[in-house]
Amino acid sequence: AKAAGRNTMRFFDPSMQASIVARANLEHALHEGLRQNQFQICYQPQMDGSGRIVGAEALLRWWHPERGQVPPGEFIALAEETGLILPLGLWVLETTCAQLVEWSKQPRFAHLTIAVNVSIRQFRQPDFADQVLAILEKSGANPEKLKLELTESLLASDVEDINVKMSQLKAKGVRFALDDFGTGYSSLYYLKQLPLDQLKIDQSFVRDILIDPNDAAIAKMIIVLAQSMGLDVIAEGVESQAQKTFLQGLGCTNYQGYLFSEPVAKVQFEALFQG
Ligand code: C2E
Ligand code: CA
Ligand code: CA
Ligand code: CA
Repeated sequence: AKAAGRNTMRFFDPSMQASIVARANLEHALHEGLRQNQFQICYQPQMDGSGRIVGAEALLRWWHPERGQVPPGEFIALAEETGLILPLGLWVLETTCAQLVEWSKQPRFAHLTIAVNVSIRQFRQPDFADQVLAILEKSGANPEKLKLELTESLLASDVEDINVKMSQLKAKGVRFALDDFGTGYSSLYYLKQLPLDQLKIDQSFVRDILIDPNDAAIAKMIIVLAQSMGLDVIAEGVESQAQKTFLQGLGCTNYQGYLFSEPVAKVQFEALFQG
């Protein structure tokens, strides 16, 4: 078996071998990171039309002792493949629920909602809704302040199953946003069947909205669709005042992006309220 293993190695592209090793190292590092508390949540403000901060999106950050800050784009996919997203996702929910409780005790922050990204793999767990409800209950967080961001890839699963889980959580007050709307394979047929609260206009439509009439048309379509379905709408990746003004003209009501703030640690997020 050993000889055969050695023989098959010859057919391996060395660069592929290197990437397999790199992956294995990263996977090991992810495990360690979870054990050694190398993860942190950053908060990016979500504003209403008048510029008031109404909530925050929780974005995961990984501080590795040697690698430095590893961006989510480099580890979320692997965490999903390996299943590590399950404990990691629970940690994110526990941490954000604890944050909600802390903010609920301070009048300045008590109105804030937190939006948490949920990977499909997490949502597909048969007891996903029970897990979230258990965390809410244990922490004492107000379910109405928790918003779960789902992506369109979810719609590849059984709509009935999605509906049961969403309804179970919605019955307690939890809200749902459809993230990166328009970038996947979403079908409007499914959209109307899900108990959603908010559509998120993907930053890929916002980036060139002032110069590309197609992006403007798509953003407008999403806003009109949200309005007519009684859903809230938020644009992400808003970097300039001109983009915000343009979106506002289309009827957009909520905004998130570098124009207001990057995702920042909790202390810096709280400092945004001082001014
Ligand atoms: P996303 O959910 O679409 O998050 C928005 C991304 O856009 C974030 O990247 C954010 O930092 C970035 N962003 C915000 N404002 C601007 C802007 O004005 N301009 C530009 N160019 N970018 C902006 P980030 O933090 O690197 O996260 C990347 C992705 O990783 C997220 O995309 C999300 O899919 C995933 N992710 C992050 N945290 C979690 C988590 O806790 N759980 C799961 N399952 N996925 C997560
Ligand atoms: Ca998101
Ligand atoms: Ca998004
Ligand atoms: Ca996006």
